[in-house]
Amino acid sequence: MDSPVLPPIRFDNSYARDLADLTVAWPPEEPPAPGVVAFNRDLAEELGLDAQALSGAAEFFAGGYVPPGAKPVAQAYAGHQFGGFSPQLGDGRALLMGEVIDARGQRRDIHLKGSGRTPFSRGGDGKAALGPMLREYAMGEAMHALGIPTTRALAVATTGETILRDMKPLPGAVLTRVAASHIRVGTFQFFAARGETDRLRRLMDYTIARHYPQAAGAENPALALFDAVAAGQVRLIAEWMAVGFVHGVMNTDNMALSGETIDYGPCAFMEAYAPGTVFSSIDRQGRYAWGNQPLILGWNLARFAETLVPLVDPDGERAVEALNTRLQGIAPAYRAAWVAVMRRKLALDGEDPGDGDLADDLLAAMEGQGPDWTLTFRRLPTAIGGDSGRIAPLFTDAGALNDWLPRWRARLAPDAAARLAAANPAVIPRNHLVEEALDAATVGDMAPFEALIAALREPFAYRTDRYALPAPRGFGNYVTYCGT
Ligand code: AMP
Ligand code: MG
Repeated sequence: MDSPVLPPIRFDNSYARDLADLTVAWPPEEPPAPGVVAFNRDLAEELGLDAQALSGAAEFFAGGYVPPGAKPVAQAYAGHQFGGFSPQLGDGRALLMGEVIDARGQRRDIHLKGSGRTPFSRGGDGKAALGPMLREYAMGEAMHALGIPTTRALAVATTGETILRDMKPLPGAVLTRVAASHIRVGTFQFFAARGETDRLRRLMDYTIARHYPQAAGAENPALALFDAVAAGQVRLIAEWMAVGFVHGVMNTDNMALSGETIDYGPCAFMEAYAPGTVFSSIDRQGRYAWGNQPLILGWNLARFAETLVPLVDPDGERAVEALNTRLQGIAPAYRAAWVAVMRRKLALDGEDPGDGDLADDLLAAMEGQGPDWTLTFRRLPTAIGGDSGRIAPLFTDAGALNDWLPRWRARLAPDAAARLAAANPAVIPRNHLVEEALDAATVGDMAPFEALIAALREPFAYRTDRYALPAPRGFGNYVTYCGT
């Protein structure tokens, strides 16, 4: 199919070229009636692309047109899903089209999700429904605006096809995802599980060259890679926790070595504070609950470390020892990152050894009292004076909060009010607003989605309307679904 509106995109295909044994060349499926429903002008410009011309490229965004230079491949990877290992997962409904070098010289993947079956589809139909693809778009934009590393959507296009989910007919769609790369812990596990050390080494060299070039010159590049990945993940999870983000499927195939948040499936933001918050219908044990995410971080990094054993040292025992020492450092590193994040959220003056306890005690005061996570922090400026301002009404019983506030005031930075407003968002993707926008989009009305995206793009703006308020009481418990 021709695509007269598509401007030239300068694709490269370094992944398919250098790591051919991790890819299968595979074409996207031709969509019957493509149409662009969401286009990310911002991101197009960041990529150095002609946004105006690209915005109408429905055939490309729906998978029906492979432009010159693009070389679609399905990527192989393995992964631990809910703790159980699958030696082969892979892109079951996605294709890497190629890479572009963005306006800042960074290599970014252009990836289609929902573009049809691949050799890795197993029982799946290879398709995606419009709602979940728009959800991924919205979540990525929210995280980006919050300053959290993330993959982002360049566009969502409908295919004109109707797909079935839970017996329900839904509009089919394709998301164009832009990522620093799609290399996952599971990508390393793919070769490690097969004992293919030479290929594993090539993957390591590629990953280092693409993401952590400083590790190439280290005394032990494999250990340096581990350190760089671990540092990025520690920072990332601390940032997730700070905004109440619950990823929902922290499987090792959904942990990107670039340090970006990836694979927005059943994720959602916690509203009323409860460390056990879980949204995903299939996470019955709460493995990926908000408060468990730092533990899963350590678990996933241990799985990554296992893959590196043959690359760290030919003497397996020495390799394991070196990696174990590092794994023991993850929990303290996370704790330090969390305390740093809380110093920012609480606008504390400098650093004090008691800051971790101060942060812990706020959370203890919130526990069981049901305050909205986002609003508790957002309203802190109203409590700088002598009373609990507009925070106490968020609590069922504000007794413990009232004991805590004077301790906090004693640690406040001089410019605390401004720092608090800059560190704590007013707007997060509230579950009821996301659902409302997706429901409208599914029946052809994009206005609520566009209004939501506009609000998410300025999370720190002064705002007291519905975009900055919790769900009405009637909204009930929110449940999200995987495999969408
Ligand atoms: P996820 O939970 O999105 O990380 O996906 C886990 C695995 O299931 C990946 O290998 C996906 O490619 C695959 N998958 C998810 N949905 C589908 C689908 N509709 N058709 C084929 N494969 C799928
Ligand atoms: Mg995934």
